[in-house]
Amino acid sequence: MAGVVLENVSRVFPGGVTAVDSIDLEVGDQEFLVLVGPSGCGKSTTLRMIAGLEEVTGGEIRIGRRVVNDLAPKDRDIAMVFQNYALYPHMSVYKNMAFGLELRYGGNLPVRLLRRIVRPARAAELACRRREIDGKVRSAAQTLGIEHLLERLPRQLSGGERQRVAVGRAIVRQPAVFLFDEPLSNLDAKLRVEMRRELKELHRRLAATMIYVTHDQVEALTLGERIAVMNHGTIQQVGRSMDVYDRPRNRFVAGFLGTPPMNFAEGELTQEGGTRWFRGSGLAADVSQAKLPDGVPNDGGELTLGIRPEDVAIRADGDIAAEVAMVESLGDSSVVHLLLGSDRPDGNTSAAERMTILS
Ligand code: ATP
Repeated sequence: MAGVVLENVSRVFPGGVTAVDSIDLEVGDQEFLVLVGPSGCGKSTTLRMIAGLEEVTGGEIRIGRRVVNDLAPKDRDIAMVFQNYALYPHMSVYKNMAFGLELRYGGNLPVRLLRRIVRPARAAELACRRREIDGKVRSAAQTLGIEHLLERLPRQLSGGERQRVAVGRAIVRQPAVFLFDEPLSNLDAKLRVEMRRELKELHRRLAATMIYVTHDQVEALTLGERIAVMNHGTIQQVGRSMDVYDRPRNRFVAGFLGTPPMNFAEGELTQEGGTRWFRGSGLAADVSQAKLPDGVPNDGGELTLGIRPEDVAIRADGDIAAEVAMVESLGDSSVVHLLLGSDRPDGNTSAAERMTILS
């Protein structure tokens, strides 16, 4: 196993698109790190550079102690699971899982015969490795619960089963690092939840380094020990999932993580007697208890207040008057859309005066 380090890594595509802009990232040995961000932020390009499928135009990538910038993908000791699974359609599940190892340890019959003559010791070693392939495939199939599917073709499998085969193909290679590029996006919601649990379990069992790319922040928060939030080719924040959720470094991270997303209110911070007030349009709140971010003075003037929907409670005798505009029921909870400026004489409410809460 091995950790992965990216130092000042960039990818500029021909034509001048900077997909990844001087990022630094350290993934520990046996860690599960999730790269998350909106579409086009550069997360797949980052993963593909680690895999060796995309050229690095600046900086250095190390896997373990080796700088891998110029190493071919097959020499990097990684295995990648793609969004579309990339299974060979004409090969059985067994063959799909065994194929990579067969290539590595043998090649076709003429190549093997030639090797036996030219390099007999190497040929004997590889023959020994080839004999282990069957055991590895069956063991991976057992781990993933797909032993009964080994003789089927990919087209005879459901999406979830195909996904397991793709993971199985990665497992048999026993790589130092697993790379996942949105592997669950083609599955339905229920199966995604199940596969997330299985991937976490797999990570525990294999004690492997895993880097996982997704645009789905729920997936990132539930899967990652640590997450790295990307936007516009840069890393906005890296940290333990709940730390990033609770203490977002900037407004982008604050608004990206969380469903429904965080509410933002523009307003002013004032000190009145012993109380610290936030006053925005339609909203006045006593924020004496709130810990201000570093650098914001107590009576800090204009700022943006971020409020998580789950941190607001509805009370008949509450301090802030609001009108309930809509309620969306989620079964175990409800998303309530509020209008804070509803007591205005003209009845018009700006976006800043709307708030979503989870109750
Ligand atoms: P998604 O979630 O949609 O897959 P992503 O975060 O993985 O997005 P990337 O695929 O890494 O994003 O792309 C990052 C940026 O690089 C995008 O603006 C994209 O248009 C651009 N890009 C990707 N591949 C190429 C290419 N071959 N040539 C030019 N620009 C590219």
